[in-house]
Parts: sequence; structure tokens; C-alpha cells
Amino acid sequence: MSEPNIFESHPIFTYFYRMNQIPRCSGSEQAISDALTAWGKEKGWKTEQDEAGNVRMTKPATPGFESAPRIIMQGHMDMVCVKGKGVEHDFTCDPIAMEEKDGWLHGVGTTLGADDGIGVAMGLAMLDEEMDAPELSLVVTTDEEEGMNGVLSLSPSWLDADMLINIDSEEEGYVTGGCAGGATGEFTMPLSRETLSGQNGLHITITGMNGGHSGQNILAEPNNACKVMAEFLHTLLQNHSLRIVRFHSGEKHNAIPNEAQAWISFAADADASIKEDVQKIWTTMQERLLKQEPDIAMHTEEYAVHEAALTAESTNQLLNLIDILPHGVYRMREDGKNVLASDNLAIVDTKENHADVMVSVRSSSEEVLAELKDKIDQAVHTFGGEGNYGDAYPAWELAEHSPLRDLFLAVYREETGKDAEVLDIHAGLECGLFAQYNPELDMISIGPDIEGAHTTSERLSISSTRSTYAMLKKLIARIATMR
Ligand SMILES: [Zn+2]
Repeated sequence: MSEPNIFESHPIFTYFYRMNQIPRCSGSEQAISDALTAWGKEKGWKTEQDEAGNVRMTKPATPGFESAPRIIMQGHMDMVCVKGKGVEHDFTCDPIAMEEKDGWLHGVGTTLGADDGIGVAMGLAMLDEEMDAPELSLVVTTDEEEGMNGVLSLSPSWLDADMLINIDSEEEGYVTGGCAGGATGEFTMPLSRETLSGQNGLHITITGMNGGHSGQNILAEPNNACKVMAEFLHTLLQNHSLRIVRFHSGEKHNAIPNEAQAWISFAADADASIKEDVQKIWTTMQERLLKQEPDIAMHTEEYAVHEAALTAESTNQLLNLIDILPHGVYRMREDGKNVLASDNLAIVDTKENHADVMVSVRSSSEEVLAELKDKIDQAVHTFGGEGNYGDAYPAWELAEHSPLRDLFLAVYREETGKDAEVLDIHAGLECGLFAQYNPELDMISIGPDIEGAHTTSERLSISSTRSTYAMLKKLIARIATMR
């Protein structure tokens, strides 16, 4: 534990410290939700807690400021709980240990939870301020990280306000004004198997690819381990009759697959020539990929074939489906710099009589999203597969006019002498659902510098936290004058 002074230096850090004493992994927020409710009540703020654990605290307008735009500050109470290999930490009861180093706060062997504990802490500290303000609320949601489940059950009446400031962004100098919508498609494709005799087996693993977040990194990472493996096997199949016994790639809907595994079988007498071609084909493919995937590697291991293999037809169809399914950027915006629509071929996993296929599609345009989904549906249907889309979240369309955004840009310029950049991001934010609940809400998303979120290297810039908070305070004071 670091010296307590940082946590006593400002209410933001004190609140953050208090939050990090309480377990708050996504999906297990009861304790933190109860604590926030208790803190709000202690302070005398109007505090509500709903069934999903979402909490809303409201402080009435300072007398004379009732007609200024009513503001909601918003963050999520849950955090991604990840610990390093060999780190002893029980996320269900241990506090997050924190250290201050070179102006940054970080966890000790675990994620820090600044995403989004610091956003919530800023909101709490702001409610504490003695300042002239319009009606000011803090809405704290649950389970943002695993599908925005808190927001999904939020009562739209909680969003009865004029402006909403989401404090869940991770870079100072940017203000987000829009985000993509999306959905997860889950499909099954039928497979047939047959038992063959005299077969040798080879377990092939491709590792070390960049992977990354299916929204934020989709432009930078055009490669997908699942597709690389399929291409590899397809090439091998041109000269050899091999069968797939198992195929597995991908772990999560929102992660670009960075590893793939295939178990293949083939006639024992083809053993030598197959192994030779495996190396030959890989050398060519690796050469092509190394520039973008410096750590890509392939590993093979013999294994004894006990399971029935896919038929020749099923083997072919599975590889064809993976080939045909889109992955990566589907269409760019007119500016040529930003992604309009994308697809992540997230999971392919063979089972006894079928393959599970999961894709994650995103777009800022509902129309292009529908077109992309159509393409994927057609591909799956071609091979007798079926399925549907779930977990849909709407896009938050960049507003042409946003007084809140303009005010923030002005405050940012005054404070720093520089211009903040407006972003329309290719990832989902809770704001998309807020916009659906209350289309009149004028919204922005901001936040201090956080690096390595969702990993054990997550760290929070202390100076950026202070300056972001100062800007937030000035912004609210400015809005108060809009009477
Ligand atoms: Zn977050």
C-alpha cells in the first residue's frame, strides 16, 4: 500500500480509495451498490437504488439556478477483475492494493479499476462541492463491462435531465460525441463425422497474434487467427486429403482471435509428405504475415486420433464458411480515416454434430449494419447453418449541434490553450442506450488518461485526473449560468 497522502489529497482520490476497498467485479456489484447507496443517503442526497443495483443520487439546484440545464454525471461501478499469474488476490473480498509511481496510480498485480471507479469518484466529489449548480445527479450503473446489463434495466425516468456527462473515457484531450451500435450473432452450422481407420493425427496451434478489442483495434488489426488457420488448412487441403477432427479459435465476442487450434487427421502413409508441406506452407504464410504479426508462430504436435473425423464435405464446408465470413473493416466513413462498420469473427468451435460460430458486428449506421448482418446470414445459410443476433445495443449518433460539447471544447481551450478533438468511436458506450431512452439528452463522454485498461498494467494519471476534474467543475459552473 502506498503512503495514504495521495488518497487524502483530494476527495476524488479518497472516494476512489473507498471504492477500491469493496469488491466490485462485473456481475457481483451488490456490496458496492449498497455502499454507494449508503454514502449518498449519509450525505443527504436523494438516493435511489434499483433491482439491477444501479444507483442514482440527486442534489437539487442551488436556489436561483432551477432553470439552468439539469445535469447527469454518469459512470459504472463495476470493474474488470484480472490478476497476474501467481498473484494471490481474492476479488470477492480483498481490497485492490494500489501504488503510486511516477505520477501514476496502479494496482499491485491486479487491474486498478480506474475504469470506471475514477469516473464514479469524480461524480461523488462533484456532488460534494459547495458551488452554484443546477440540479445535479450522478447515475452509477452496474455490469457495464460484460454487456451493459445495468443500463439495459435502467428506468428511463432516471434520465430525466437536459445534459449527460459520461465519465468513462480514457484519454484527456478528446471528447466523445458518438459511438457505434452493434450486436452479437450466434450461429450453428451442421457437421457430419465418420470413423476412419489407419489415421495419424496432427495438432496445429497458431499463437502470438496481436488480437485486441474488436471495436477499438479492428482497423489496426486486420488479421484473425481463425482465418489464418482456415487459410492454412485450405492450402494444405489442395494437395492432401485431410480431415478436421476439432477446430477452435476465439474466446470472447469482443476480442479479435489471436490464437487458433486445429486437430487434423490423415492417412498414415501420407505422414511424411503432409509434415513437409505443413512447414512449406507455413513458411510462405508467415513471411507474408510477419510484418503485421511480429510474434506469430505455429506449433505442431502428433496426437493419437480417437474421435471420428469430420467428413470430407464437412471439413471443406467448415473451411469455406470461415473463408467467406467477413472479418475486419466492412466499410470506412467518408473521411477515409474512421471505421463505419466492422465485423469480428469472434469464435469458431466444433462440437459433435455442429460448429458454434460467433460474430460481433458494429456500425454507426443502422442501415449499413443491417446490410452487413445480411451478408453474414447469407454465408451461414449457404452451409445449412442458422442462428440469430442478440445483445444488440444502439448507436449514439454524433449530434450536429451540441451545446454541451461546444461548452466543453471552450472550457478545454481556456484551460489548456489547445483544442480537444471530437471523437465518434467505433466501440459501444452506455450513451447509446441513454440516447434511446431519452433522445433529447445532450451528451458527451470524457475521462482522464488511463492506460492498459482491462489488464494488470492498468494505470491512472494523477495529474490528468486533477485537470479533468477541474475542467468538469468549470463546465458545470458554466452550464449553471445558462439560465
Ligand atoms: Zn469503462
